[in-house]
Amino acid sequence: MSSAASLLQGQGSNSAVAHGVRLPPELLKRRTGQRRQMLAVQAVSYSLITLVLVVYAYAGTIPMIIPSAYFLVGVGLVSIFVVLSEACFNDRFEDHYLTVYQVGGHVAIQLCFLLAAPEIGFAFLSVVFLIFGFGALRMTSRQAIIAWTLTMIGLVPIFLFTSTPIGLPIATPAERVAAMLSYVLTIGQCAFVGLYGSTMRKMLYDRSFELKAANKRIEELAELDELTGASNRRSIMRVLEEEIARADRSGSPCSIALIDLDWFKRINDAYGHPTGDEVLRTFSITMFANIRSVDRFGRYGGEEFLLVLPDMDTNSAAGALDRLRAIVADLEWSAFSPGMNVTMSAGVATLKPNETSDTFLARADRALYAAKAQGRNRITSA
Ligand code: GH3
Ligand code: MG
Ligand code: MG
Repeated sequence: MSSAASLLQGQGSNSAVAHGVRLPPELLKRRTGQRRQMLAVQAVSYSLITLVLVVYAYAGTIPMIIPSAYFLVGVGLVSIFVVLSEACFNDRFEDHYLTVYQVGGHVAIQLCFLLAAPEIGFAFLSVVFLIFGFGALRMTSRQAIIAWTLTMIGLVPIFLFTSTPIGLPIATPAERVAAMLSYVLTIGQCAFVGLYGSTMRKMLYDRSFELKAANKRIEELAELDELTGASNRRSIMRVLEEEIARADRSGSPCSIALIDLDWFKRINDAYGHPTGDEVLRTFSITMFANIRSVDRFGRYGGEEFLLVLPDMDTNSAAGALDRLRAIVADLEWSAFSPGMNVTMSAGVATLKPNETSDTFLARADRALYAAKAQGRNRITSA
């Protein structure tokens, strides 16, 4: 058992607790519940096999002490794991089921009883199949090899170095019933293990699907501005860098527009900050509804926005921006508050060869400043 012990030790060193990380209580509770379920299944399994042994004892094949001892030892081992599990000892290990120890312990019981009652040895050997079936659901390949090696170390000498006859007698009707029960119950439990495995696989599949969707949503949220739903500054700046690189590679034009709402301070002052927020949201929605799908719109800061227009030269960009300006100016802003008017100004710039994003933005900003200086509600090109 020493290699299994070192293996478990190895698991321990990886455990969350060993690294000083406390697992959340709800996770601990869920894990304890899962272990309880598994240990209950084991107790039921020992009871069923004991039933087979009782029939053999009734048939006179084995003494009655064998089923009693089998039940006590089996349920005794399960109880030890119950105590460890309830004390949360298991949670110190990465494999909180302690699968290798469980497999080792239960296989050892079967081998001891195989020696104690070899005349019905195949009944215990079929339980070894079951134990491995269950264990394989949780073990890593390394753990499975170790568990298999240990089992072989126990099993091989029994077969090769003893002359103990191993059997499953079916001479009398009672023995036939016992043998039948042994196989029927083992096959039933194998089917249960299979079903359990496929349920676990389905659960894992569903979880990974949900996780993927949640991650995608998180990524989307990390890219968006909370108030307006436009790309946030970090995201739109990344897009700008990408579009500059693309335009440099392909030689196609790339334009940008820095857009700023006119007299926005006054809107806040006159109608209140919450209404100002609504105006920003409505403006953003209006922009999204009227740009091409390849255009990217982001909040540059406050009430200033950056529109990236791939494959557009200065003239078409200025034309597109003037159309957007007219749409914004013509919106029914008085629906927010009687007498309200919102307009925008924009500075348009088209990428020059080998230009950086800084100088590109600076030219658009100067154009915007000029639009403001010329009286607002207008578009100026750099
Ligand atoms: P100009 O025409 O020269 O751009 O005038 P302006 O008043 O729009 O210019 P300024 O940059 O001085 O004012 C911008 C205002 O936008 C100031 C700030 O309170 C407001 N603002 C910035 N972010 C938000 C926001 O998230 N919500 C609201 N309601 N207001 C904001
Ligand atoms: Mg402004
Ligand atoms: Mg501003």
